[in-house]
Amino acid sequence: MKIKTRSKPLPLRKLDVITPRLSPHFPRLPEMKEDAKKQGRGYSGETKVDYHLEILASRYTLLDDVYLHNNGKNFQVDSLIAANHAIFIVEAKNYMGTIIFDSILKQLTRNDGKIESGFEYPITQAKNQKFHLQNWLLKHQLAHIPIYYFIAIADPSTIIKVDGNREEISKVVAHASRIPGMIIEKDQELAQAGNAKLHDYRIGKIILRECGVYDMNIMEQYGLTCRNLLPGVFCPGCGKRGMKRIHGGWICPKCRHKSHHAHIKEIHDYLLLYGSITNTECMWLLRLTSRSTATRILQKSGLLYLNGRKCWIKRT
Ligand SMILES: [Zn+2]
Repeated sequence: MKIKTRSKPLPLRKLDVITPRLSPHFPRLPEMKEDAKKQGRGYSGETKVDYHLEILASRYTLLDDVYLHNNGKNFQVDSLIAANHAIFIVEAKNYMGTIIFDSILKQLTRNDGKIESGFEYPITQAKNQKFHLQNWLLKHQLAHIPIYYFIAIADPSTIIKVDGNREEISKVVAHASRIPGMIIEKDQELAQAGNAKLHDYRIGKIILRECGVYDMNIMEQYGLTCRNLLPGVFCPGCGKRGMKRIHGGWICPKCRHKSHHAHIKEIHDYLLLYGSITNTECMWLLRLTSRSTATRILQKSGLLYLNGRKCWIKRT
């Protein structure tokens, strides 16, 4: 059974909200767009791997995107499978072209047909995660559980090559479609070796209870202040910013598209970045001239008003 599902990572959601609101001349905009692209590629790879791992949900306990805290440090695992005799961690990797695992120098290179680039060695990364998880389990009286890791190559068209020990690499690296079979096989091997049967659901629940959410202060990360953000309502029709308020809705001066609810997304995006919104902030965000319109919009938006702080927040 899957007890934790994946959603789009918060830093990526925030980048998606911020970048369209920045002036095209903002110096770090290209870097932000590149980071968003990279994170988006990672997320897409993880969801592709999820699709293949799903088959294990009928026999084991699955958790996507596990983010835990141990000894003052956080660590993250793309997919965690509490099986009958071990915990399996799966790291998703989304590369285009050909990748070469150098088992001697412990490095990964990728050739996309044009350029060769180097990446952090995924096996070292997975080993570190295993080490962190082992320490975490020790702290939670679960030190008896063995942990194994796999690197799932998300895209079936990625060509995997090895420089060095092919056998060693092929034991832990494979295209995503092969990973469930490798997990089942290892789990059965452990059963035959006489390993104790685990309460996988109970273990999964203990991990779930301690899971946090990975977040980042994007504004600080890219040296942004709210002054860098441009206000206005985006048109759902043509994507341009600057819809005008008309009676009971919005109209786009560029494509004449009309919308009743275009402001809802803007308010929710603002809450994603700042956590709360005041009447004045709402007027700025939606470029409203009337205070009472802002109040009316906020009252109808299903948010919760905090009297003491004079602002609106999301209902939980
Ligand atoms: Zn438009």
